[in-house]
Parts: sequence; C-alpha cells; structure tokens
Amino acid sequence: MKYLSEFRDENLAKSMLDEIRRVTTRKWAIMEVCGGQTHSIIRNGIDQLLPSEIELIHGPGCPVCVTPLEMIDKALLIASRSEVIFCSFGDMLRVPGSSKDLFRVKSEGGDVRIVYSPLDALKLASENPTKEVVFFGIGFETTAPANAMTVFQAKRQGVKNFSMLVSHVLVPPAIEAILNSPHNRVQAFLAAGHVCSVMGYWQYEPLVEKYKVPIVVTGFEPLDVLEGIRRTILQLEAGRGEVENAYERAVNYEGNIPAQNLLKQVFEVTDQKWRGIGLIPASGWKLGESYREFDAAIKFEVADIQTQESALCHSGEVLQGMLKPNECPAFGKECTPRKPLGATMVSSEGACAAYYQNGRFINLEVVRK
Ligand code: SF4
Repeated sequence: MKYLSEFRDENLAKSMLDEIRRVTTRKWAIMEVCGGQTHSIIRNGIDQLLPSEIELIHGPGCPVCVTPLEMIDKALLIASRSEVIFCSFGDMLRVPGSSKDLFRVKSEGGDVRIVYSPLDALKLASENPTKEVVFFGIGFETTAPANAMTVFQAKRQGVKNFSMLVSHVLVPPAIEAILNSPHNRVQAFLAAGHVCSVMGYWQYEPLVEKYKVPIVVTGFEPLDVLEGIRRTILQLEAGRGEVENAYERAVNYEGNIPAQNLLKQVFEVTDQKWRGIGLIPASGWKLGESYREFDAAIKFEVADIQTQESALCHSGEVLQGMLKPNECPAFGKECTPRKPLGATMVSSEGACAAYYQNGRFINLEVVRK
C-alpha cells in the first residue's frame, strides 16, 4: 500500500536494528508516551527485536485510560437524565466508572449515542431543540482543536441546548511529572507525532534544557518508531539531551498556529487529575470564562462525586511505567477486554489491551530469571 508500506519495509527495519545494536553500549530506558506507539511496538514485536539493554516503558499517552474516574462517573450521571442525548466517541462507552459504564446506562434506557465528530453532536442539538445534547470531550492536544471549534460554533450559532463535558490533558506537564517522580527510571522519551502536528515541538525545549533528556518526536509505523529509538539511542550514547523531529512528514517546529490560537481562545489551562496517576499541576484544559455556559459539569451540577476504583487494578502503575501489563495479577484472568477492570484494558490505545490482543500473556523477563 503506497504511503504505508514504505514505513513497514523489512530490509530497512533490519538495517536500523543493526545500527541500534551497534551503537548501544549500556542499559537505557526509553518511554514511548503515546498509546498508539505502544500498540505499534507490541503488534510488531519491536521491543523483542531490540538489544536487551534497551527497555521500552509504556507511558500514559492513552486519553481514554487517563480520563479520571470522577469524569466517567459525571458522564454516567448526566447520560442517565431523561432530557439528555449523551454523545461520545465509541471507545468511551466501555470504560468502567465506579459501578457501571455508558453501555450499561444505554441498556437502562439512557440516550447514549456514538458520534464520529463533536460537530455531529452540535448538529443533533440543532435538530433536537427540546433535548439537552452533551458531548464527552476528552483527549490530548490532538482532539482538542475539533472540540474547541465545536464550542466556538455553538456560541456563534447561539445553540443553547449543547454542552461539553471536558477532560483534556496535556503531554509536556505529564512528561515533567514523570521526570520529577521519585520512582522515575525513564532516560529519554519518544514524543507523539500527532500531538506535535498540532502543538509543534517548541514546547519540549524547556524540558530538555531543564532535565537534559532526549525527546524525539516520531510517528506510529514500525519504521517511525525504530527511527525514533535510533535517534534517541544516538543522543543517549553521546550524552546529549535535545529535542529532535523524526516525523518531518507531519510535524514542524511551530505546529498548527490557527489551531493553537483557537485553543487559547476557547480553553484555559487548569490543574488536572489523571486516572491512576493523580493531580498534575497545569496539565489540562477547561472551558475558558467566556465559554463556561457550555460546560456540562456546571450546567448539570455534577461537581461532588465520590468514586470507587477496582481494588484489583494496577493501571496507575502501568501508566507510570512501573509495571508491565502482564505483571498485573489480574491480567488475562479477572481482567480481559470482554470484562475490563481498568481503562487500560478497554481502550484501543491502552497498554493492557495491546499486551492482551498480541498474546503477551507471559512476562519473558520473569521466565528468563
Ligand atoms: S490488566 Fe486489567 S486490572 Fe491489571 S492493570 Fe491492566 S486494566 Fe488494570
């Protein structure tokens, strides 16, 4: 397939792996921040092809996985109301809240609908003036421009029966939180190309200056990931800690300036809870003052929520790279994609789902010992 097969070329992959093996002289731990990259690594067996000195640590870059439990429970409460049409991307419907998920709300009679764009939800609001239409606006910087545009359009068109439950998270503060953690083992990062296609990569410069760690922007195909690892290892072995762009076909330094301007207009930075991790200062976006009327959490008064995580789930440790999914005692037993205990087993980008779907039931490191 043109434009895809070029990035899956076996011979090129071999020569990149040869170079990585040749230049690696000691142990290194690299975190791929994005869940899409985790799936590519596990699906293609990249972690098993690398020299044993290189450990890939799976990061918290799955938006479904890090959406806080409080926000899922708020969604469940709002979606249960008779006047509400609750719209979401499909992957949020099976994420477990404290006691149920959105599919259960739908089976109990709630009007929960899967949409493919937040603008579809806005259209539904215009078509259903007697209903309140709510869109579940979650995600990283990648999905934020479409959500910002939808709220902007709702205000411009004077649509009063539309609102958004917003839970947006930001990558650079999460990287900083990982680097500041007393448990941190990460020495370099692969940054997510799609986030940088919106935000550019200028935003990582303060991090590399402060922490002297390599951050290499890369994509999702096998050769993208290998090139990101190759450049990262070259930096680590040379004692460098710089931002590099290995995804030039999609990312430039500045990013998408009109999108960034819209984001600044509609959202404001806020402290944000990450599921399984906790509060990270200035790591999220909420609707700004002049768009507060579209905030579903305010409109439906669902501020104080008591939550209850599964006692068996270790997804917080998985998301922080402290535990591989198949080291969780519940992996493949009490917790499977059909009956997930945590969001990392639900999401198409979750690390636990990646391990399960690709048959990683055994931790080879444990077996080797
Ligand atoms: S395998 Fe299931 S229970 Fe274990 S950390 Fe992953 S999602 Fe949680």
